[in-house]
Amino acid sequence: MILHPTELLGILAKPTEYYNESYRENHDPEIDKVLQFGRDHGNVFGRLDRTDLKAFIVPECVGEGGLTEPPNKYVKKASEVLRGELGIAYDCEKCRSDKKERCKGIQPANHDFQDFESLIRILYQIRCNLFHGEKLDPNEWQKKRNQKLVRKGNIALKIILEEVAGE
Ligand SMILES: [Zn+2]
Repeated sequence: MILHPTELLGILAKPTEYYNESYRENHDPEIDKVLQFGRDHGNVFGRLDRTDLKAFIVPECVGEGGLTEPPNKYVKKASEVLRGELGIAYDCEKCRSDKKERCKGIQPANHDFQDFESLIRILYQIRCNLFHGEKLDPNEWQKKRNQKLVRKGNIALKIILEEVAGE
């Protein structure tokens, strides 16, 4: 299954209804496609700025909604894989304490993420949150964090699409 770059852009740009229903993840053809894209283009990972990528996993996992909403189990697993890849030793250690408590209760999904695949999964979550409106959070800390995620996400996505288009 080959996902064309413009198709990825379409998926990332299209508001949908079901992104917060993580229990559907295993059966969601759209997420399957997104993850497959990540596996198909693993070579792109090395062309991304590793410092920029830290924004997606530091100081905490991208949640499934606003404020202290913890990540879903796939994003949690993807965050662990990405931290390992980027040499970040702590695991949610610097997470805000109230969110950390909730994150602790999430058992990472049993999914064998590759490095680029894990990044793509997190970017997909940011996009989902954006379209679901959590990025409009009134909380100042959250607002700044959201802005950073979207900014860094756009930077990464631009490079990804250019690289894939040139392959
Ligand atoms: Zn966490």
